[in-house]
Amino acid sequence: MPYTSAYYPFKIRGEYPQVYIGPTKPEVTAAAERKGFTVLGRGGPNRQMVILGCRTCGTPIHRRSRVILFNNIDCEGCSNKKDEVAAAAIDGELVSTRPIGHRHRREWRLKCGHVVIRQRGNMRKAARGDNEAGCEMCREERYAAEAREFGWTLHGPVPNKPGYRRYKHTCGAVQDVSVGNMMWGDVACHKCSKGASARPSFIYIFQIDLPQQTVIKLGYSRKPHKRLRHQLGIDLNVRTKVLRTIPMPSGFVARVQETEAHNTLSKDNPEWVVPKAAYGDQINTEGEIYLPAALAKIHELVDEIAERFPPRGPA
Ligand SMILES: [Zn+2]
Ligand SMILES: [Zn+2]
Ligand SMILES: [Zn+2]
Repeated sequence: MPYTSAYYPFKIRGEYPQVYIGPTKPEVTAAAERKGFTVLGRGGPNRQMVILGCRTCGTPIHRRSRVILFNNIDCEGCSNKKDEVAAAAIDGELVSTRPIGHRHRREWRLKCGHVVIRQRGNMRKAARGDNEAGCEMCREERYAAEAREFGWTLHGPVPNKPGYRRYKHTCGAVQDVSVGNMMWGDVACHKCSKGASARPSFIYIFQIDLPQQTVIKLGYSRKPHKRLRHQLGIDLNVRTKVLRTIPMPSGFVARVQETEAHNTLSKDNPEWVVPKAAYGDQINTEGEIYLPAALAKIHELVDEIAERFPPRGPA
């Protein structure tokens, strides 16, 4: 028996299903009834389809006879209701159940007003409080605002580097920076701030237990705890210890203060200076290495620097 030129007076998945004249097997009708649906007839995109009405929400759906007999039937209408409830729970709204190009996702308006495409599971979790339903657009706006504080404009994502963004400096230079570093302004423009001198820094006192003798290094670094060993190329078998660090407003200031301290030390107590020949390649530096006897004096000098540059609280 054929398709007719008639159509059901309601849409299923965006289309009016065409009416197909044909019997529905009693066991299919019985299974549909048992699962909460009323059989309305046959039709839709192919001959195996049966048109059902959901007795819970009234939405018409179509399913193959085999599916009605052997599978669970999840009504789109009921499902959308749950999505609407989930959206309302986070002060949002379900905008579209079938956004173009996203079969298994939904379009939602978030609390902030932005419209996003998300999986429904994601939003239901958010409604239960299991995740944040954070808005990527708000997040990017926040990143852009954080960058502006330091004279950078957010340009966009960096391919294959999720934690990074591309930024443009006021000077025009474009650079990829991790958003974590940008948040703190921990970034130097490769074009206009040569040598990282504009970034916050630390003066440190570092103890290095070389096999032949323990020595002290006074220096400055942006990240003394993380990078010192690496920067100085110290062998993994050599024990090292950061004895002290004090924050400096910039690498530039740190370098000036540190140089002054070295000058004082080598002028007043040249006997404490360990010559390069004594450690050679064991420490990748040309100088600034002292005997442990110098430690008290070094602390004194660092005290004075700390007094001149009291740490600034979080801005
Ligand atoms: Zn339903
Ligand atoms: Zn938003
Ligand atoms: Zn620049």
